[in-house]
Amino acid sequence: MRIAEGVEMLELAEEGAAEGHAFCAALIWDEKDAVLVDTGVPGMLPVLKKALEKAGVPFPMINRVFITHHDFDHLGGLPEILETAEKKVEVLAHEAEKPYIEGKKNLLVKLEKVTKMLPAAEREKEINTYLSRQTVTVDTVVADGQELPYCGGITAIHTPGHTPGHLCLYVKKAKTLIAGDSTVAQDGRLAGPIDLFTVDMQEAYKSLAKLAEYDIENVICYHGGLVRGNIKEQIMELVKRTK
Ligand SMILES: [Zn+2]
Repeated sequence: MRIAEGVEMLELAEEGAAEGHAFCAALIWDEKDAVLVDTGVPGMLPVLKKALEKAGVPFPMINRVFITHHDFDHLGGLPEILETAEKKVEVLAHEAEKPYIEGKKNLLVKLEKVTKMLPAAEREKEINTYLSRQTVTVDTVVADGQELPYCGGITAIHTPGHTPGHLCLYVKKAKTLIAGDSTVAQDGRLAGPIDLFTVDMQEAYKSLAKLAEYDIENVICYHGGLVRGNIKEQIMELVKRTK
């Protein structure tokens, strides 16, 4: 879906996924750069390629990939992308997320929360899957508030809570926020972070409040898709509700 000139929401649906259950990755581009934000799960490369084709930015044009955080649904497709690309693709993430993306640190506290209801054997299996995940190297770390000079300017916003190094991106030319998992969307409205999948809810809401400082017209939520209209009010309402 075209959000604005040079900004596309890429709806990546796994085979057999229910309606509305696509991962909403983002693509930002201009004549020099094509930046993908998050990648879907392993095996999704054909789906991604098709979505890029449809957007008019074929896969070989991708030269940078931002990872909002190291959860499997955001990072899982990256190894395949890097292996398939014919040129070097730069991987960027927040500095606090780098050790998790590279597998030097593990966020077991979150996984323990998510798998609490599972029988012991299944839980152990989930944890082992996480510990043996395919990792990648982050080429460039970005800091909170850092302005990246491509595609008309992209601002990195550190939004810890969901994970310690969670990152949102603000695309200046399109007044668009790429929200990652800092908030999900439900029925076209911002619904806040999801407790079960969030390491620190208090911190996540503090991060959400920080987003209200930006002049945002469009929000791309990785889960739930596009939200438009009264973004600042919607954010403030969510933040108020938690106090
Ligand atoms: Zn996610």
